[in-house]
Amino acid sequence: MERNPQSAIRNPPSAICILGIRVDALTYAELLDRIAAFIASAGPHQIATLNPEFVMEAQRNAAFRAVLEQADLCMADGVGLLWAARRQGVTLPERVTGSDALPLIAERAARDGWRLYLLGAAPGVAEQTAQLLQARYPGVQIVGTYAGSPADAEAPEIIARVRAARPDVLFVAYGAPSQDLWIARHRDALGVPAMLGVGGAYDHLTGVRKRAPASVQRLNLEWLYRLVTQPWRWRRQLALPRFAWAVYRDTVQG
Ligand code: UDP
Repeated sequence: MERNPQSAIRNPPSAICILGIRVDALTYAELLDRIAAFIASAGPHQIATLNPEFVMEAQRNAAFRAVLEQADLCMADGVGLLWAARRQGVTLPERVTGSDALPLIAERAARDGWRLYLLGAAPGVAEQTAQLLQARYPGVQIVGTYAGSPADAEAPEIIARVRAARPDVLFVAYGAPSQDLWIARHRDALGVPAMLGVGGAYDHLTGVRKRAPASVQRLNLEWLYRLVTQPWRWRRQLALPRFAWAVYRDTVQG
């Protein structure tokens, strides 16, 4: 086959490395197709939705870094990652958040018969989320909901519940990095084809906690909205200027 020397330039890379962490360049539509492929191939797969806080946590937390390295997909949640990619001359196709992916996955699940399990959040919130998704996407199979916690003592019970329900997709809302460490720790025991950490997605969807309005999201200021509405996150959000500085240094020197 004849090689086209332009193809590497015309085709955007399928992944990019930001401060040593791989970020996959996928759209929501491509994510859905990858999930379909994971379900077809049956073995367990882990999907993480990364933001700058993840990348900074991975700089100092070797266990978390290892989890991201072995994850099957690392999606670019967080405008900071799109900005960091642009500094390398790469335009990531779009921001892919857990909160927006969840209803899209449920929509596809209703069409293709995927079985969904909602784990995590405060008691009752996963159930509320399930009701909302069932009303919005008639026929969607939600085969289980459970709050539980990422504590090791609870793992055997949760794993037993999930295995008995045989989901194709498992959403885990324990916040980062706990949810991603938890999925990696129990990946083989759970054996679910697609497992995603989704942070506050159920809270956002049900309105238990308000997400930034669409206009604020469009201005790329969702992080500021979170800082104002959840001021106790300030220490965690210090990761943002640290991230910006590290990326700046990396791309100026690199
Ligand atoms: N959560 C939980 N158990 C825990 C810690 C957190 O169920 O032990 C839930 C919490 O109720 C919330 C979600 O995890 O629904 C974390 O949301 P957040 O927006 O803080 O996610 P992050 O920004 O950390 O991804």
